Amino acid sequence: MPRNIYDEDHEAFRDSVREFCQRVLLPRTEQMLQGKVIDRDLWLEAGKMGFLGLEIPEEYGGAGAEDYRFNAIGAEEWSRVNAAVSSCFGIHSDVCPPYIVDLGTQEQKQRWLPGMASGELICGIAMTEPGGGSDLAALRTTAVRDGDWAPGEEGDWILNGSKTFITNGYQADLVIVAARTDPSKGAKGITLFMVEAGMPGFTRGRKLDKVGQEESDTAELFFDNVRLSDAQRIGEEGRGFIAMMERLPQERVGAAVSNVAHAKQILTETIEYTKTRKAFGSAIGSFQHNKFKIAELVTAIEVAEAYVDDCIEAHTQGRLTAVDAAKAKWWSAQVQNDVLDECVQLHGGYGFMNEYRVARAWRDARVTKIWAGSNEIMKELIGRDLGL
Ligand SMILES: Cc1cc2nc3c(=O)[nH]c(=O)nc-3n(C[C@H](O)[C@H](O)[C@H](O)COP(=O)(O)OP(=O)(O)OC[C@H]3O[C@@H](n4cnc5c(N)ncnc54)[C@H](O)[C@@H]3O)c2cc1C
Repeated sequence: MPRNIYDEDHEAFRDSVREFCQRVLLPRTEQMLQGKVIDRDLWLEAGKMGFLGLEIPEEYGGAGAEDYRFNAIGAEEWSRVNAAVSSCFGIHSDVCPPYIVDLGTQEQKQRWLPGMASGELICGIAMTEPGGGSDLAALRTTAVRDGDWAPGEEGDWILNGSKTFITNGYQADLVIVAARTDPSKGAKGITLFMVEAGMPGFTRGRKLDKVGQEESDTAELFFDNVRLSDAQRIGEEGRGFIAMMERLPQERVGAAVSNVAHAKQILTETIEYTKTRKAFGSAIGSFQHNKFKIAELVTAIEVAEAYVDDCIEAHTQGRLTAVDAAKAKWWSAQVQNDVLDECVQLHGGYGFMNEYRVARAWRDARVTKIWAGSNEIMKELIGRDLGL
């Protein structure tokens, strides 16, 4: 089914991202896999092309696009070539900037946004803790006022605790950290801080060893009496949980876009494979079982894509609800995983070999049902909205 949410400008942007993927990213796949990281020069190249600052206003070095469809095209194209690149670039350029653009002071924007747009400052966001990720309101990292600070005064905060599974965590220059500033207030006692590489007391663990998306650096972060001034606080004290809830729909629709694009690309490659691979003297795609299976998979992708496209449009117009974003996220993750599992099957033994893109894609996809709010948490949100 033809898609109708993008115009010529969007498609021209897609062409430039696609060209970059072919020319710059694809040849580096093996190197990224070995190093478990997207090398800095790739970030800088992407920054130079203007791909990392779509949402950042022009005065701070970004594109000031103010049109979410450009972000969506980025997510689609990164996912088509490499799911891990999509995750890392997505966190940096789609998930993190709104916190600073919407909530930062003039000084904070000047300090961080130009480097984020250029790729010189790699950014991550740290919500999840070793003790739990789903129940965000129960996080235990603390930031307490230092010394004899009095209400209304400027002063320092002392940050203690740890975070885990943080995308870009190993090489991030900047991390948005959610910390508890008031233990008596639950969700209303959470505040966001910008923690910078090199701050005394801020350390990272090793790059975590994952079953998929090995190219992305995912790490534990440790905070041992990290001293933060008020200039490191993003948004108002006690408003961190609300800030995250307000911005999670964008993270989730971005995840949904990636999920569908990733599965669609591998399915396209799989269909080609089934036209050339022969068994019993015929192309394996010609057997009725496989033909029907592929018909089901193509249908599943197109139906999911239509819903996600509606969400992209709604978000572009500022009317995407958290519940609709939750539906898009869990459904697309499920469809992606189901489709890729069948793609592996259609490849037979080759589908289980790491040198085949389908095998890696299948492993890469597994996490999408877990992160950014698991499928169960998405259903919890939907159920709550139904008054259940
Ligand atoms: C590769 C990777 C990258 C990540 N990147 C980031 C990042 O950049 N920043 C960040 O902050 N986090 C990140 N995460 C963390 C991710 O968001 C969490 O793993 C996720 O939110 C789940 O939290 P948890 O792992 O603590 O699982 P838990 O919260 O312990 O949940 C375990 C299981 O219980 C289920 N469950 C929990 N509560 C309920 C409930 N009420 N009803 C039904 N089932 C429930 C969950 O769905 C899950 O299946 C990343 C994770 C991975 C794997």
